[in-house]
Amino acid sequence: MENNIKCSVHDCLYWDNGSCSADGIEVMVSDGSQIAGSELKTACKTYVNQRPE
Ligand code: SF4
Repeated sequence: MENNIKCSVHDCLYWDNGSCSADGIEVMVSDGSQIAGSELKTACKTYVNQRPE
């Protein structure tokens, strides 16, 4: 499904050559609050580690 989401997280199950192959994603504030203040404090909750240790 074409979703126009670019991503650079290579170890995510949904990562596909620079794009996200998930049908949709959920983004949250990294610390669990609701105010990020910076893009650096946001995180993709849909991420799945394709290489779990
Ligand atoms: S689910 Fe999130 S981390 Fe994974 S490829 Fe998509 S945007 Fe990137």
